[in-house]
Amino acid sequence: MTNVIYNHQIEDQDLKQKQIAVIGYGSQGRAHALNLKESGFQVTVGLRKGKSWEKAEEDGVHVAPVDEAVKKADVVMVLLPDERQPEIYAESIKPNLDAGNALAFAHGFNVHFSQVVPPSDVDVFLVAPKGPGHLVRRTFEEDAGVPALYGIYQDYTGNAAKTALAYSKGIGAGRAGILETSFQEETETDLFGEQAVLCGGVTSLIKAGFETLTEAGYQPEVAYFECMHEMKLIVDLLYEGGLENMRYSISDTAQWGDFVSGPRVVDADTKARMKDILADVQNGTFAKSWITENQANRPQFNAINARENEHEIEQVGRKLRELMPFVNQPIDKKKDVVNN
Ligand code: NDP
Ligand code: MG
Ligand code: MG
Repeated sequence: MTNVIYNHQIEDQDLKQKQIAVIGYGSQGRAHALNLKESGFQVTVGLRKGKSWEKAEEDGVHVAPVDEAVKKADVVMVLLPDERQPEIYAESIKPNLDAGNALAFAHGFNVHFSQVVPPSDVDVFLVAPKGPGHLVRRTFEEDAGVPALYGIYQDYTGNAAKTALAYSKGIGAGRAGILETSFQEETETDLFGEQAVLCGGVTSLIKAGFETLTEAGYQPEVAYFECMHEMKLIVDLLYEGGLENMRYSISDTAQWGDFVSGPRVVDADTKARMKDILADVQNGTFAKSWITENQANRPQFNAINARENEHEIEQVGRKLRELMPFVNQPIDKKKDVVNN
C-alpha cells in the first residue's frame, strides 16, 4: 500500500526558521496562513489592497503587497485563482524569487500545462489539500485536519520534499495523512474528479433526477427533498464508512433498488464517456478550452452560470432552505465548494 505520512514522521524545525509568503487570502490562502501561523511558522500574506487585505488585517496576520512578500520570503505558496496565476506570477512573483527559494502551489494546473514556467534554480512543489479551504481551517481548529497530497516538480536544493512535508504539517494535513503524488497525477485526477464525479457528475445527476420527477407531475418540493436534500445525508454515510456503511443504514428495499437500478443509470456508456473526459484532461483539450474562455472574459461561463442559478431546483431549494434554519448557509457563497 502507498506510504501515508503523519505528523510524528515530519521534521519542521528548519522551515520554522524561514519566511513563508502565502500569496492570496481566499478559500485556501486564509486557511494556510492562519494554520501555519498557529503552528509556529513565520508567515506574510501577499495581496493587493481590497477585500482580502482587509480580512487578513482583521485576522491579525502580517500583510504586504505581493512583490514585497515574495522578496523577503524563502518559501512562496501561490494561492491565487488558477486563471490569474500566470499574469501575477510574471509581474510580481518571478522577478522577486532568489536562487534556492521554494515556489509552491496547491494545484498543479499552471505548472503542468506550462502556464507558469519556474526558473531552474528554485524548488517547486505542491501541497494540495483534498478538501475546501474552509474545511482546512475548520478541521484544524478542531484538532483534526484535511488530508493532502504533496509532489515535487523540481528539487534544486535537495530539500524540496522536506520543505513540502513540513509545510503540510503546518497546515494540519499531517493529522489526517499526507500522500506523495506528481504534478501530473494531481492535476489530472483533480480535474477528472471534479468534472466527472464530484461537481459535474453530481450536479447533473441531481438535476436529471429532479427533472424526471417534476416532468412526471410530482411536486417540485418533494423532488427537491428526494434528489438534493437527502444527498448530503447519504454522502455523510459514505464518507464515514464507505458503500457498506451507507447500505447498512438504508432499507433493504433501497439497497435492492441500488443494486438493480444504479447500474442502469451509470452504465458502460457512461463509463466510456468518463474515459473520453479523462482523455480530454490528459491531452490538454480541457485546459486549452478553459484558458481560451478566460482570455475571452468568460462569455460561456457567465451565461451558463446565470442559467443554472435559475433552474427550478434552485428556486424551490432557496424557499425550502429558508424554512430550515438549521441547514447551514454557505460561509462564502462563491467559494465553499469542493474544488478538488
Ligand atoms: P480564491 O478565489 O478563494 O482566492 C483568491 C485570492 O487571490 C483572494 O484572496 C484574492 O484577493 C487574491 N487575488 C486575486 N487577484 C489578485 C491579484 N491580482 N493580486 C493579489 N491577490 C489577488 O482561491 P482558492 O483558494 O479557491 O484557490 C487558490 C488555489 O488553491 C488554486 O490553485 C486552487 O486550484 C487551489 N485549491 C483550491 C481549493 C479550494 O478549496 N478552493 C482546494 C484545493 C486547491 P482579492 O480579495 O483581492 O480578490
Ligand atoms: Mg427514500
Ligand atoms: Mg480543482
